[in-house]
Amino acid sequence: MMESKKEIWVFAECSRGAALPVVSELIAKAQEISGGIEGSSVAAVILGGDSAAVSQLSGLEIAKIYCMQHEALKDYRCDVYAAALQKMVEEYRPEYFFFGATAMGAELAPTTAALLKTGLAAHCIDLRWNGERLNCMVPAFGGKVVSEIYIPNARPIMASVRPGILGGTPAGRSDSAAPELVTADASFLGEFDSAEEFLEFIPSQKKDDAVEDAKIVVSAGRGVSTDKSWENVKNLAAKLGGSVAWSRSFIDTGRVDDESSMIGTSGKALSADLLINVGVSGATQYTCGTEKCKTIISINRDPRAKIFEHSDYGVVGDAEKILDAVLRKMA
Ligand SMILES: Cc1cc2nc3c(=O)[nH]c(=O)nc-3n(C[C@H](O)[C@H](O)[C@H](O)COP(=O)(O)OP(=O)(O)OC[C@H]3O[C@@H](n4cnc5c(N)ncnc54)[C@H](O)[C@@H]3O)c2cc1C
Repeated sequence: MMESKKEIWVFAECSRGAALPVVSELIAKAQEISGGIEGSSVAAVILGGDSAAVSQLSGLEIAKIYCMQHEALKDYRCDVYAAALQKMVEEYRPEYFFFGATAMGAELAPTTAALLKTGLAAHCIDLRWNGERLNCMVPAFGGKVVSEIYIPNARPIMASVRPGILGGTPAGRSDSAAPELVTADASFLGEFDSAEEFLEFIPSQKKDDAVEDAKIVVSAGRGVSTDKSWENVKNLAAKLGGSVAWSRSFIDTGRVDDESSMIGTSGKALSADLLINVGVSGATQYTCGTEKCKTIISINRDPRAKIFEHSDYGVVGDAEKILDAVLRKMA
């Protein structure tokens, strides 16, 4: 087992020179955890030596920024990045290492964990220090329970967390000193024989009506099982000037075929003023994407549905009939 320092590392994934918002969320969480662990400190890790990202993170209350700079790190390739992180971990021995469960993080974190022969709790919805150990909270059994994952021996303890789930704002520096900048040796990358070739960066196109930015959202679950009830969901969203979203199981009904407006741990986290859930059961993987919504109304024919525990108002009944009545009133 690798002997470790009490450093909590956050991988600072960058896009066009800036650290992604999930990096701030992870640093805020790392600061909170560090507050409970005597002698611990928080550090960010940047690959490619992006100076804009270094300045961006320098204003935060973190002890160090670890950087590795090399031509080979200019564009993301999983095997090169994982090898770089492996080298840094083996040299500087952090106790914890957190990633955003982004498209990159979901690939890079497990690859790095495998190289380091350590444990990774993937797609966590929270990280909790209980005074003795770090519990990584991961939904299990179809979201009916939230399991606490603890990695007892191997180090670092690694975890990935879906963007937008943690929220939180990191504490800024209370003094004028900058974090210590540690430049890791990248010379081994000159010899590195990557199996991957970087071809082109194509930025993802964020839709104008991206559901994560919408103030009003009507969300369909598997209980929206008829064409009429689906039309009703879309009509209600249009009448309210809102967006339509859905659960993972709604995709299985075949009425939509993409995850761009799917809510949850592997989908989007909402921050709407009003969310109306229609025929959604309330699995943890879904509700952890709705926790920041201000007002939640849910329609479900099962009075014991878990979604009602996450709602301000509940309507028990058939989705199609209830939406018919609502739309008639609004006509
Ligand atoms: C690793 C992993 C990651 C996952 N990530 C996600 C994720 O990001 N997002 C996500 O959504 N899920 C995710 N899931 C799946 C999740 O566990 C649930 O299975 C899913 O959220 C259930 O969707 P649902 O509520 O639409 O469907 P169901 O659980 O099938 O619920 C349907 C509900 O509709 C009600 N209903 C049925 N008919 C009607 C009617 N006529 N009128 C009114 N109500 C009716 C039922 O009472 C029921 O409560 C993930 C699962 C795993 C294992």
